Amino acid sequence: MTGTTDAAPAPEPAVAPPAPGTAIRSAEVLVHSPGRNFVTLRLTTEDGVVGLGDATLNGRELAVASYLADHVVPLLVGRDAHRIEDTWQFLYRSAYWRRGPVTMAAIAAVDVALWDIKARLAGMPLYQLLGGASRTGLMAYGHASGRDLPELFDSIRQHLDEGFRSIRVQTSVPGIDAVYGVAAQPSTSGRYDYEPAQRAPLPAEEDWDTRAYLRHLPGVFEAVRNEFGPELPLLHDGHHRMTPIQAARLGKDLEPYDLFWLEDCTPAENQDALRLVRQHTVTPLAIGEVFNTVWDYQTLIREQLIDYVRSAVTHTGGITALRRILDHAAQHQIKSGIHGPTDISPVGMAAALHLDLAIHNFGIQEYMPHSAATLEVFRTSFTFADGYLHPGEQPGLGVEYDDDVAAHFPYQAAYLPFNRLKDGTVHDW
Ligand SMILES: [Mg+2]
Repeated sequence: MTGTTDAAPAPEPAVAPPAPGTAIRSAEVLVHSPGRNFVTLRLTTEDGVVGLGDATLNGRELAVASYLADHVVPLLVGRDAHRIEDTWQFLYRSAYWRRGPVTMAAIAAVDVALWDIKARLAGMPLYQLLGGASRTGLMAYGHASGRDLPELFDSIRQHLDEGFRSIRVQTSVPGIDAVYGVAAQPSTSGRYDYEPAQRAPLPAEEDWDTRAYLRHLPGVFEAVRNEFGPELPLLHDGHHRMTPIQAARLGKDLEPYDLFWLEDCTPAENQDALRLVRQHTVTPLAIGEVFNTVWDYQTLIREQLIDYVRSAVTHTGGITALRRILDHAAQHQIKSGIHGPTDISPVGMAAALHLDLAIHNFGIQEYMPHSAATLEVFRTSFTFADGYLHPGEQPGLGVEYDDDVAAHFPYQAAYLPFNRLKDGTVHDW
């Protein structure tokens, strides 16, 4: 009789346990309003290494805060902070209910916080872990606007004085009282200076007239080109307000003024609409700030119907997911134009800058400087000089969160506005 009395070996665990000290000890959801509302996720490892993620969804902030606090935080404590890809797939697949801005902003916050931790543990700025720098700086564009041409020219000159070398141009339209993207308007008392979301119990109602806009805008760009010359890169945001044929006409009408891009010319969820626009104009097209996953870009990238990907790190599942979208886009010579208004927190902005620096197909970075109050809570190390941003050389993202200052800025309800046409019909804002 043969055999052994040894017990059968214990099966290998399916997942190796975290290295000592690298399990997530705590996950905190921080909601504060230093100038505007931000939702921030802070992960801390057993060894005390901290990572930050941005989960801000402008006008719907508390939905993401609840998604994180009620459904994600309990899953994170004890997980290995090093396992970024595994955690991303776990959160995306185990929820069953995939995609959407709330889910993907929550996943993004976890993903970015884990990248922050990994880079801090490595003692490197995050861009080094993403492959290292592909350039020395990131061309950024600023937001100039005016109610009329003299005010618009002043705004462009002010941005040039501040160091911007690429300019987004938004302007009032005769017959429309308040237009997205224009800083000083009588009806809005300067609300757009840095934040379109109004702190109020109900969203502001604005008006819109596409025919008036289409008549007015080409003349504005002609005047800007005549004043500032042919070299200055100029951008414009249509903010999803046109039909495909209207967008095609605008792109065609703007061709003589050589735009860097025309952004969000149609409601972006209908990818097929861009096919029609593309057939009629060679004005470069940028789209995607309201997209959440690569699936929103399938037709656009495969058929090369756009030139720039506008997604934010914050709303697209984080660095892990946006990197994949941009790598896919690169195969079709489509470049990045990562969303960067002030409702992307300094954490989300820093994440964008590290990704921008590392990828090959960088295009341009949107940049609206945050308010002084915001920058007291989020202490940043990225820089802006002579038209170029740089994420800095601090380990991780390079952003620190000051709880003591944040405590002075409790959440305040705020809504983005909406549009009605003259006959009362609700229209894309
Ligand atoms: Mg936009």
